[in-house]
Amino acid sequence: MRHLLFSAFFALLPIAAPAGFPPKPAAPATVVEKPATPAQKAGPAAKLTTPKIPAPKLVEPRLSVARSGVATRPRVALTFDACMGQADERILSTLVRERIPATIFVTARWLRKNPQAIQIFLQNLDLFDIENHGQNHIPAVDVPTLIYGIAAAGSSEAVYQEVAGGAAAMQAAGFSAPRWFRGSTAKYDASAIHQIRDMGYRIAGYSLNGDDGSLLGAGAAEKRIAAAKDGDVVIAHINQPTHAAGEGVARALLALKKRGVEFVRLSDVEGLGNDDTTQ
Ligand SMILES: [Zn+2]
Repeated sequence: MRHLLFSAFFALLPIAAPAGFPPKPAAPATVVEKPATPAQKAGPAAKLTTPKIPAPKLVEPRLSVARSGVATRPRVALTFDACMGQADERILSTLVRERIPATIFVTARWLRKNPQAIQIFLQNLDLFDIENHGQNHIPAVDVPTLIYGIAAAGSSEAVYQEVAGGAAAMQAAGFSAPRWFRGSTAKYDASAIHQIRDMGYRIAGYSLNGDDGSLLGAGAAEKRIAAAKDGDVVIAHINQPTHAAGEGVARALLALKKRGVEFVRLSDVEGLGNDDTTQ
């Protein structure tokens, strides 16, 4: 409607001009309307015809470590994700007190909130290998999709930012440059894996899910982790102090130690991953 009124106003101009004034030909400039947007052209049906982006093929890589081959001294790599939120003192204090080595994947987001835990890590670098879990805990998938309801990075630029931003925050906190990356949700698409590998990382899958994203009950988490086998890479969470799982994780650490497990960090041994993550 506005366009119509606008055009009508200018259409009147030649008539209103002083006598003798050469009337301009119907000035095209005054009647040009803005081109219709694609949505206007297509009308209300546009939504129905928008092409859908196909869901990307995601992988959740597996990672194990070279076995000790000694039945009485199985080798296990404990890895803990510090996604966001707090530090789980039940797990952290057990690791420190029992001198159990572990690999901790931290985000920039978590580092900002947990200066005390950072100090504990820095004071115990003989135990802890601190690695990169990203800047904002955004899945490292370079096409738009949702994973467990979390929006993926969605582009290679955003994957780069997630990885580089995580590393920058770690180094600003006093840790050395990370060599391993584990993305939020531990799922990737193949091109993101290649991109992250090109940035100099190996990608940390796992072979034993110890706490189902810290949602397991204490008993179930304890049982799973305590049953770790020679060569297993265990994933669990160290950022949910209010969840029951952490209590079971802490108990499992003691059980593994009692079993004579050789605890290794990912920086100590050869990691054996699939999906082009470590080769
Ligand atoms: Zn996480």
